[in-house]
Amino acid sequence: MNNKFNYSITKELDTAYYHWIIKFIIETIGLIPSYQKHVTEETHFIYGDYNSADNLKAIKIPQNSLDLINEAILYGEANKKTLESFDVITAIGKFLTDAVNENKTDDCYDVHNRLNSLNSYQREIGFQDKPIVNLYMNFIKKIVEETFQFVYTPMFPEGIKSVIILSHDVDDPVKYALLNNYKLFPKNLSLKNSILYHMEAIKKTFERLTKKDENIYWVFEDVMNSESKYGFKSTFFFASRNRFEKHANFKEDVPYDVEQNGFNKIFKKINDNGFEIGMHASYYAKNDKEILREEIEKLERLSNRKLVGNRHHFWQIGSKPEKTLQLHYQNGLMYDSSIAFNDAPGYRRSIALPYLLFDKQLNQTINIMEIPTFMMDSNFMLNPEFGQEKAFDQAKHYIDQFHAIGGVGAIDWHVRTSSTNSSRFRKWGEVYLQILEHLSKQEGIWVTNFETFHRWMIKRNETLYDKT
Ligand SMILES: [Zn+2]
Repeated sequence: MNNKFNYSITKELDTAYYHWIIKFIIETIGLIPSYQKHVTEETHFIYGDYNSADNLKAIKIPQNSLDLINEAILYGEANKKTLESFDVITAIGKFLTDAVNENKTDDCYDVHNRLNSLNSYQREIGFQDKPIVNLYMNFIKKIVEETFQFVYTPMFPEGIKSVIILSHDVDDPVKYALLNNYKLFPKNLSLKNSILYHMEAIKKTFERLTKKDENIYWVFEDVMNSESKYGFKSTFFFASRNRFEKHANFKEDVPYDVEQNGFNKIFKKINDNGFEIGMHASYYAKNDKEILREEIEKLERLSNRKLVGNRHHFWQIGSKPEKTLQLHYQNGLMYDSSIAFNDAPGYRRSIALPYLLFDKQLNQTINIMEIPTFMMDSNFMLNPEFGQEKAFDQAKHYIDQFHAIGGVGAIDWHVRTSSTNSSRFRKWGEVYLQILEHLSKQEGIWVTNFETFHRWMIKRNETLYDKT
């Protein structure tokens, strides 16, 4: 089978880093990367100095690391010659390692150390709503197809152009979680936090008595029903360390306790109906392999299933996600979806495809499938640039732009905001239902959960390498 793509790299650029970028490109377009130390008649692609190969058919890209943006490619006006003056390899590498944002000062980050989208490189260049790396990849694929005859392994099932993954961070499904597990002498809390804890308990007790809205955010079944109507089955990310426990962030971690409150029944329902349970790692889990391990083991025990992947609560994957993903790998996780903007929709690393990160310090690829999230509820419902009445139109715009280019991206709507059950989040729930309906009407979008897509990719990559 003709699917081996021979590539060669000039000696001075022959590093693990460049091999990682080129391998990602070739595998994603559906071919097997095969490195050649010396350029021959059989070489398909040369990176770096290609003077000696001037009259070969190979695609040649010289190193010229200055430009990251090539408008001819982005606007569909480029041809094979474009690659001789634009170093798309370096550009893709800089987006995927986030080097494009490496000079940002501290004030470009929020208090949780997340880059503000308004201060990002992606915003500066005006490409907030388009995954630039996907556009570069589409262009490279087109040039390869025009230049050579290959048998490609498709990225998606037949007829599919893009994959949207539906997911819900489970942050606050139990309105009076604190009261359900109230202790007069809480362990693990400092004196100051104990005082805050008791004050909050008094306030919540009063609220519960007057409002009688105990179950208002317990909407798992409602959410599953809304999605099932269209045959969609999403992922629910549960936290197993709450804010009152050791190693937790008292202010920011979740209040609920997965060992109580009927979570066991919900876990069973989620499992029985083919939805996914994933890990919602706590605020500090990024720092420590054991903290993360405890959370995974606890959730696996309670949910009675093996966890495949994770999304960090508050996007707390750390300032060096490459390091944190090593902890995932050591703990047996296989995918992550924690790289996103918090304050706006868009593509944090300008990509909407699964990819592996590269740790430049260790000089190695991290074997965790990163799947970007490009839309979150609050990006649309609390956006300072438009009101809630525009939320669905904006969400539709992002979905349509994404689908026109093609790729893989996740939507994160929290559980309580995915239902119209509470008056506080009714509008949020309505927009989510509109999104589901919109997705159901699109041709060529596969709407699924992370686990199902991850399984597909494993099989797809096996097929790719089987075809030799
Ligand atoms: Zn969360």
